Amino acid sequence: MAAIILHVVSLANRPCRRSNFILKSSKVPLKQVMFATIASGTHIEHLSTQPQIFKPDDDSVVKETSCVPESSPVDEAALEKLQDFVSASKRLFVLTGAGISTESGIPDYRSEGVGLYARSDSRPIQYQDFLKSASKRRRYWARNFVGWPKFSSVLPNAAHWALAEWEWAGKVHWLVTQNVDALHTKAQSRRVIELHGCSAWIVCLSCGQKTTRDKLQKRMKEMNPQFSVESQVIAPDGDVVLSDEAVAGFTVPSCSSCHGILKPDLVFFGDNVPRDIRESAFARLLEADAVLVAGSSLEVYSGFRFALAAKEQKKPLGIVNIGPTRADQLAKLKIDGRLSSILPRIQVA
Ligand SMILES: [Zn+2]
Repeated sequence: MAAIILHVVSLANRPCRRSNFILKSSKVPLKQVMFATIASGTHIEHLSTQPQIFKPDDDSVVKETSCVPESSPVDEAALEKLQDFVSASKRLFVLTGAGISTESGIPDYRSEGVGLYARSDSRPIQYQDFLKSASKRRRYWARNFVGWPKFSSVLPNAAHWALAEWEWAGKVHWLVTQNVDALHTKAQSRRVIELHGCSAWIVCLSCGQKTTRDKLQKRMKEMNPQFSVESQVIAPDGDVVLSDEAVAGFTVPSCSSCHGILKPDLVFFGDNVPRDIRESAFARLLEADAVLVAGSSLEVYSGFRFALAAKEQKKPLGIVNIGPTRADQLAKLKIDGRLSSILPRIQVA
């Protein structure tokens, strides 16, 4: 991974016009940068070297809006309040949810009109179903196989980049995300805890061996040469919709070491956040002096409990989200609006 980063650094030919810690270059092959970050996955918080942030030119960023709920522009007074909130914090704890990834083209589950639940009958697989049923696993992997090329190529948007800049400026103490799309690590955030795991990694349920999702994609391709269904519609976990007929012929790979069942290294619905991850996230919150929720309705308790903890620890809670959240009553500050047009306007230097 170090070699890849060095190669990219040598290609970066001009400094960023926005800050001295972001290298910008239209010559940087983005795919290589993506590979470098994905390869480090959830262990990224342990890196001791300083990150380099490679951000594409603003002009080259495709703005996805089809998954974003409608919202009104945010007024200056609200922005000022958020600025004050962020400026007052020395160790900000940020919690993000599906709302931050909608502008990258990944739908959330619950938003009115544009969320996955509103647009389709498809529901995420339950953990117990995955464990117990070989046919459900086949369905899961066939759909995930088809969705992976698009899901894995989704890029961070301006809100992800802004939070990475905040971290590099020393503002963000830690960032905890409920998302499994790796977009924060793609944007070079380093102090990240992925509460629900990361779709870029696979774990064997028998021997615990971990491999990258990219490697598994290769194996699945070799095992299913006849399988060439394409889908452009994806879910927050990379799922797509496929007919039962299409799924039936799919061969599911097992662990290459022990032939055990393979599972994405993420927390399915009906499963619990691993204890060490949860404790680590709460320890980081304890060290922080304020909590900002970005792009989450906090409907799921694993996210809501951070808002409750903030309240309990008498730490100010700010929320930026389109639509109401479960913690609106607990918040000192609530802004209803689009993250990518709000976060980049906050000064942290
Ligand atoms: Zn195994």
